[in-house]
Amino acid sequence: MIRTFLLCLFLATACLQARPPVYVVLWFDTEDYIEPASDDAALRIATDLTAEGVQATFKVVGEKARVLESRGRRDVIEALSKHAIGYHSNWHSVHPTPSEYLAPLGFLEGVEEFERRESAGVADVRRVFGTQPVCYGQPGSSWGPQSNPALRKLGVPVYLDEGDQVGLNEQPFWYGGLLHVFHMGRNMFRAELDKGAEDKAAYATFDAAVARLATQGGGVISIYYHPNEFVTTEFWDAANFSHGANPSREAWVKPHRRTEAESERCYGVLRHFVQHMKTQADVRFVTAKDLSGIYASSLPPVVDNQAIARQLHDKIVFGTVQGQTLSPADMLVALLGLAPQYVDGPSSAGATTYARPSIPAPAFESAKRDAADFVARTHRLPNVVFIGADTLSLPDFAATLAGSILEPGAAVRVARGQIGFEPYFASDPHKPFNWVIHPEGFSGAHLLELGRLQGWTLKPAKLGELR
Ligand SMILES: [Zn+2]
Repeated sequence: MIRTFLLCLFLATACLQARPPVYVVLWFDTEDYIEPASDDAALRIATDLTAEGVQATFKVVGEKARVLESRGRRDVIEALSKHAIGYHSNWHSVHPTPSEYLAPLGFLEGVEEFERRESAGVADVRRVFGTQPVCYGQPGSSWGPQSNPALRKLGVPVYLDEGDQVGLNEQPFWYGGLLHVFHMGRNMFRAELDKGAEDKAAYATFDAAVARLATQGGGVISIYYHPNEFVTTEFWDAANFSHGANPSREAWVKPHRRTEAESERCYGVLRHFVQHMKTQADVRFVTAKDLSGIYASSLPPVVDNQAIARQLHDKIVFGTVQGQTLSPADMLVALLGLAPQYVDGPSSAGATTYARPSIPAPAFESAKRDAADFVARTHRLPNVVFIGADTLSLPDFAATLAGSILEPGAAVRVARGQIGFEPYFASDPHKPFNWVIHPEGFSGAHLLELGRLQGWTLKPAKLGELR
């Protein structure tokens, strides 16, 4: 009897464990401040979803929040407020866009410039919606790594968007101190609006993604739309700001409209898609705000330095050490003897000028103390670490430090750090930034270079339970 009971309990537990949750984050870039019909589209979508018992995330452009207010659209503001509110840049497609203004700048200058240009938009979205935006995503593909420290300072903890610049196994990850839902690959798709009354192919894609993620211990599916797509046949910004065009406000033109019947059909496509997704038992809709709770804190507890040193000496990339997922920055912070804390990567690439094969232990101890002081004061990793008048690049310093822990002695052997996080970044400077609003041939080479330096902060996000 007891044995049967235990067997049942075991089977029930195994069954529960075999059905990990799949989370759907459904988000709407709410950006068209030119065509007022897009206000009605946002209202309709938010209301339909509320009726379905589904919470979505509306990422609102600063100017969109301001025009909703000036057009007296309290109805739209209240309907959207039943969902999570994010931020989608201050002006979206008015030039210069974020990539355009960040591309000529270094890392630290770019952080300041992003804050200068975007803080008013964050404040306006907060004021109009009466809530702090919970996430950010760049307009189009106008990405730059300098946004991340500025967003942390502005109190925005999640990066929710799509793009090719950085990604990790088609699932959420930590990067630049923000939880990222980005570059989701097979876990990002949608029911197409222009394939009839329903897009049943998307239902099959969804079911397949749920089954695949369930075998991987659960995960996230990212689905997005723009309210304007439901009421116009072209994008509001393409009609005005393509390839660097920057007409003055009086010259802005409205995008072509869908007929009312066509808009109704589009709302139906989304509603049917949502109804289909709701039929899957282990699927839960989450907002960008929920994601912060689902994913455990980015800060690891203290783990054994020997184990960390082995990892970092071998390759500079995120890894699992004693069950904890650590970024290379987490590992270096631990080896420097500092308490677990988030720190940014280096602001530029440094070079090794130190030419001898080893460093006297006291000189290396002094360099280590200096590096620890730099990190503690600036909350970022140094570009180089000095050994007297010479330097070790950050990767070489990290590998050498790891080696000094693995093999302590009177002399510390200089090791060459092997960066292992570059495959997680785009290498093509054009394709990931190919957006109709950017000037033709726009190059994001420098932004990607700065972005790769922040690969020190990259690590997978660990899925927990929704609290
Ligand atoms: Zn957008």
